[in-house]
Amino acid sequence: MASRENGTPRRDEDEVCPICKSSRYLNPDMRFLINPECYHKMCESCVDRIFSSGPNACPVIGCKKTLRKNRFRTQTFEDIGVEREVDIRKRVMRILNRREDEFDSKLDWDNFLEQRETMIMNLVTGVDIAKTEANLRKYETSNLDSIRANQARESQEASSFLEQQSFEQEQARLRRQAAREEYEKEHNELLAGRESFLSRLAAGTADDATNLAREGQKILLKKSSARRSEEDRLRQKQAALRGESKKSALGKTALLSGAGDSDVEPSLIKGLKKVSIPEPEKPYDPFGGLDLGKKDYYVLKDHYPSQWLEEARKNTTMAAGGFDIKEYYSRTLFEAFAGLGCFIDEEVAKRGGASETFGMRKGIATQGAAQQAVTGKPAEDIF
Ligand SMILES: [Zn+2]
Ligand SMILES: [Zn+2]
Repeated sequence: MASRENGTPRRDEDEVCPICKSSRYLNPDMRFLINPECYHKMCESCVDRIFSSGPNACPVIGCKKTLRKNRFRTQTFEDIGVEREVDIRKRVMRILNRREDEFDSKLDWDNFLEQRETMIMNLVTGVDIAKTEANLRKYETSNLDSIRANQARESQEASSFLEQQSFEQEQARLRRQAAREEYEKEHNELLAGRESFLSRLAAGTADDATNLAREGQKILLKKSSARRSEEDRLRQKQAALRGESKKSALGKTALLSGAGDSDVEPSLIKGLKKVSIPEPEKPYDPFGGLDLGKKDYYVLKDHYPSQWLEEARKNTTMAAGGFDIKEYYSRTLFEAFAGLGCFIDEEVAKRGGASETFGMRKGIATQGAAQQAVTGKPAEDIF
């Protein structure tokens, strides 16, 4: 039986399959596989034989775990204990994958790391396994969105470098291919041209020879312009490729920002920043909420008897110029009554001003209002 817990298996035991007892000495190509269910080691042919027809019990005596063939894999670490710890660590880290920028303070982040480490060690050493597993499952179900978002961020960070590298390689390959194609094309054209030249020279006269030379000049010119357009085409193609890669990157970030955190405060991890969704911006109001059509203290009439205004009302030149007497009524009345909604004592009380300045200001304001009411002219600016 393969020893799991003692940590240092003997060398010869390592080379013999505990199930079929075939040894590496006789079969140098033999590969050992393990299953993270129970970490019992067996050879590849045993796995094929026992688990090809579906899930089956582990053939190691005393182990009652049900294993599936697709979960078998090669062992990465020689020590099966290390292998198991690394697996557990990977699993826990995949679930508790919060990042430092998600915490309010460095202390919270440190506490989280310690908490995660404690959970991993509990699972590795077999302390409070049921409770830890329950906590993990609960956290996983309630924080699915944030786990997915962080996983995406991690994989994006890991892949962006590789992506860039492969993109550059692809670009270089395309450039090389284009250059090779062009060279071949040119070479073939040259050969074909030379052949036709020779045949025409052989058949023609001296005049033909000068004509042919002129034609040759033309072909050369045509070729150089063709090369230029080919270069342009290549450059455009590369620009298009670059644009596509940028677009895909943008799409990814959009996806990331779209995956918001769950609004349920996780009970397992403490000190996480609150995620606030900004309110949608309201349309701009140039009057700051003031309703110009609202009349609390007066009713606007169509006509007011006034000798002075009567002239302006009847003057057709003024009307033609755009003067509107009703507009004038409306504005003048609005301005005349505008101050009535303001209660200075309330405002001053709110401001928390001293009582003597309050009294003085009230006096001046009342005086100003009285003057305005009598003369109909606005008083001097009192402030
Ligand atoms: Zn075997
Ligand atoms: Zn087993």
